[in-house]
Amino acid sequence: MKVLKFGGTSVGSAESIQNVRTIVSRIEGPKLIVLSAMSGVTNILVRINENLKVGEITEAEELISELRKKHLDLVDSLIPTDNATVINHVNSLFQKFLEILQEENSENAEARIVTFGESVLTYIVSAYFSSKGMDNLLLEAKKFMHVPNLENPDTEKVGGLLGHYLKDKIESDIYITQGFVRTDKFNRINTLKRGGSDYTATILGAAIRAEEIQIWTDIDGFHNNDPRYVEDTHSLSHLSFEEAAELAYFGAKILHPQTVSPVIDKNIPIYLKNTFTPDLPGTKISNELSHTRFKSDFSER
Ligand code: ADP
Ligand code: ASP
Ligand code: MG
Repeated sequence: MKVLKFGGTSVGSAESIQNVRTIVSRIEGPKLIVLSAMSGVTNILVRINENLKVGEITEAEELISELRKKHLDLVDSLIPTDNATVINHVNSLFQKFLEILQEENSENAEARIVTFGESVLTYIVSAYFSSKGMDNLLLEAKKFMHVPNLENPDTEKVGGLLGHYLKDKIESDIYITQGFVRTDKFNRINTLKRGGSDYTATILGAAIRAEEIQIWTDIDGFHNNDPRYVEDTHSLSHLSFEEAAELAYFGAKILHPQTVSPVIDKNIPIYLKNTFTPDLPGTKISNELSHTRFKSDFSER
């Protein structure tokens, strides 16, 4: 089994999601797909929470209408015909989401709100794949992503929960699930912190002993410097687990800081690839020795 994670920009528009489908269809064998919310959506959900905290309900409702329209438009673009069932389901997800706003003192309302982007998008992508004849199974990550300790996830436990959850489900070659969400020590919905879908991918990769993890994003791998601030950076073909962990930990935005840790002991390689230029090699993170000069390049920052 391979784990494929697609980040926000990779699922940020109908065109990008069509790219994702092509990429997925070209990868052989069974796949577990982890999706982020569409780019920008989690930021809007964070704003909704802020509005609610200060009692600005109307502003929150306006933002929710904006999100509803964005996702309904996405359904229309991806599934232009015979989409009534999907539209109805998306509407019902938003209806339930609005009900969270009515709850008084709900302790985990904030986390349920901020993880909603992943829930609605995975449903739409699953329905889109089905409409194109790509059979798939949508999995509810909150049923198995039990991560009480953010620093040290028990991947055996997650694997056991996933196995139990899948027991009465049909087998599939394509599983789709939500990044970012976890349940905490109180069994409540919580998050893996911003950018956490990368971490979902490696926790699940370790849990199912995946043969590899592919993290698909909007850049052709780990660059020798932060391309947002430095000109003429280039992609590094290979990094060791330790190098990648160190760079992520010290803030290279391309990876959530803890992404690498769950897979080091199990020696599962991570490939960083660009959804928009899938034929470029990207970066391989593994236990092979790397010959890159990343340290000196990074020290120029
Ligand atoms: P995703 O939404 O797919 O998770 P992110 O925005 O979290 O993507 O991460 C990809 C972005 O990380 C790139 O577009 C790039 O601007 C930024 N980035 C920062 N440092 C690096 C680096 N060293 N190498 C590559 N990208 C980097
Ligand atoms: N959607 C979440 C965020 O924006 C998680 C992720 O994209 O990795 O932080
Ligand atoms: Mg990210």
